[in-house]
Amino acid sequence: MTRVAFIGLGNMGGGMAANQAKAQRQVMAYDLSRVALDRAAAHGCSVVESVAEAVRDAEVVITMLPAGPHVRQVYAEQVFPNAPKSALLIDCSTIDVESARAVAAQAREQGFRFADAPVSGGTAAADAGTLAFMVGCDEADFAGVEEALKPMSRVTVRAGDHGAGQAAKICNNMVLGISMIGVCEALALAEKLGLAPEKFFEISSQSSGQCWSLTTYCPWPGPVPTAPSNRNYEGGFATAMMLKDLKLAQEAAARSGAAAPLGASAEGLYALFDRMGYGGKDFSAILELFRGRAHAP
Ligand code: NAD
Repeated sequence: MTRVAFIGLGNMGGGMAANQAKAQRQVMAYDLSRVALDRAAAHGCSVVESVAEAVRDAEVVITMLPAGPHVRQVYAEQVFPNAPKSALLIDCSTIDVESARAVAAQAREQGFRFADAPVSGGTAAADAGTLAFMVGCDEADFAGVEEALKPMSRVTVRAGDHGAGQAAKICNNMVLGISMIGVCEALALAEKLGLAPEKFFEISSQSSGQCWSLTTYCPWPGPVPTAPSNRNYEGGFATAMMLKDLKLAQEAAARSGAAAPLGASAEGLYALFDRMGYGGKDFSAILELFRGRAHAP
């Protein structure tokens, strides 16, 4: 039975750890939140009281944490000193490329194999085990990474060396932020024009406006039952997380000299929405801004 340490059991990590347990792996799970630990226990994970305890006998360590500083700290202070050198370390969080490369370099110095493996798909895919993973790692380590991720994945692609997974992820999420805003603007306009948004969904989802933000994650409640719009935008992918990713994309664009003006506009709109008090709501709630209904939740 493969021994997996799983650190970070939030909106995404909770479902991902459950799928590792469902695949008959022995999952030692840890999170700072008691609620998250209880949920993991209910899904077949063994919950422990520290990262050190989780990783002690691990063959694979998977982390799913909020941002770069959490990842740097957890690896430097808790994973590296306590995990066996044979453990394969995989960070699935979305973080900046520099942090990913820094943690990979420290891992290598200490004799560990490490991969950055951020995901695309949202909480429904995390729960269903159908995430897309984009991986940055040594070529020789990829087969092991793919095998470790299998219970959680629909597709796993090696993007390149360390940091390449995160580069792919921030580019992908820049598309996602921009496309969600486009879909929300169009739905709000349809409503103003007296066109039922559900009818617009039916037409556009079969026309050239079709995209993931519309057909898999529709911000208008109703057409896609699994979308957070049907549960008052609770859970899902928080506005604050989307803002983090759009900032990462803008920082990367500024450093590399790439032009990303629509990404900059999306960052500005999500920053505004976050400041209005919607940071904890799913990012598709930005529909409320375009409908003129946004107020402190
Ligand atoms: P979340 O806030 O729901 O979960 C993060 C978890 O990490 C929390 O439960 C928190 O208690 C835990 N945590 C923080 N510091 C910790 C520590 N030191 N030790 C142990 N646990 C710690 O966030 P999420 O939505 O699950 O997102 C996690 C990552 O996945 C983020 O980087 C996000 O950008 C990325 N992501 C999210 C989605 C999505 O749809 N939610 C999709 C793709 C990628």
